Amino acid sequence: MIQLIDLKKQFFSVKTEILQEIENVLESGQYVLGPKVDELEKKISNKLGTLDAIAVGNGTDALVLTLDAYGISAGDEVITSPFTFFASAEAISRVGATPVFVDVDPESYNIDPLKIEEKITSATKAIIPVHLFGQSADMDEIMKIAKKHNLIVIEDACQAFGATYKGTPVGSLGDAACFSFFPTKNLGTLGDGGIITTSDLGLAKQIRKLRTHGTTRKYFHDSIGYNSRLDEIHAAILLVILNKIDLWNSKRKDVAKRYYEKLSQTNTLKLPIVKTDCSHIYHLFCVGSENREKFLKLLQANNIQSGIYYPLCLHLQDVYSHLPYKYGDFPVAESLSKTLFALPMSPFLSEEDQNYVIDVLLNEVKG
Ligand SMILES: *Cc1c(COP(=O)(O)O)cnc(C)c1O
Repeated sequence: MIQLIDLKKQFFSVKTEILQEIENVLESGQYVLGPKVDELEKKISNKLGTLDAIAVGNGTDALVLTLDAYGISAGDEVITSPFTFFASAEAISRVGATPVFVDVDPESYNIDPLKIEEKITSATKAIIPVHLFGQSADMDEIMKIAKKHNLIVIEDACQAFGATYKGTPVGSLGDAACFSFFPTKNLGTLGDGGIITTSDLGLAKQIRKLRTHGTTRKYFHDSIGYNSRLDEIHAAILLVILNKIDLWNSKRKDVAKRYYEKLSQTNTLKLPIVKTDCSHIYHLFCVGSENREKFLKLLQANNIQSGIYYPLCLHLQDVYSHLPYKYGDFPVAESLSKTLFALPMSPFLSEEDQNYVIDVLLNEVKG
């Protein structure tokens, strides 16, 4: 079976280093929020060019704690994409606010800035653009709208560590940004983790407080917080991966290049479009076809794993049936949910395996 995301191969490529780092942590006696977490926070903020970074339990918590730290709560509205992983909207609901969806751009699959302003009301507090599949949203336009209407911008950068917009890394473009270290993310650990990057030092202080039960002085509490901390083992693993991430992202681009070269011969599959201002790190390589079912069956029959990201838009989820949306509201997102499917993508996808995937697809297209 050719894996969609080959995590095992990835692990074996760094196994010795990671086992050594884990042993060091185990022998250190410090296991939750310690020197490795501090080092990771410093290295990530330095790399992305923000003044601070705060590591937390996972990417969803990164979003929840950021919204909470900004005081966003019941009665507030937050604008985001209906075509993303559920957590982007779940975090908004989790703090009591209401997600307001805006359709996406048919080329980048990211929130369409031209459609944002019509959704802004007096209750709107923030915009969460998602850098979907590893490509930045149109941040200049989004920041312009946010500035005009005095809104906070929180980047959901969970799928895009290392991607850039006009040469600047995602994670340093909004007021704050959230990353996930879930194993399948391009900067992933061997468990759960997440981080918020920001240059707003007041916000950073508030998030640090929230992640440890809302306190700055142990056993004295003046607010309600969370328990959302990163373990030293994960920080140590992530420091190893962080050293490789530029290389791994460039290997993803090599894989993507081979897909483009060979699959562009056919007009049957719609390939990802990279916007001029963006570098894409291909967290996922999703292609589109009106005959998705046929391709999914074909891949499965040939022992090639694929995936659907995402089969149901967020405005059509049962949990949001109380919100004023119906099928047809976001035609671009709805169409993508019916046509896109992901091809195997990883820094460790061999040329041989990739050529096999390509041949299977081309044989079908040519008949
Ligand atoms: C993975 C992901 C999240 C959530 O991250 P977790 O670490 O799984 O909680 C949020 N938003 C997007 C776009 C994601 O891909």
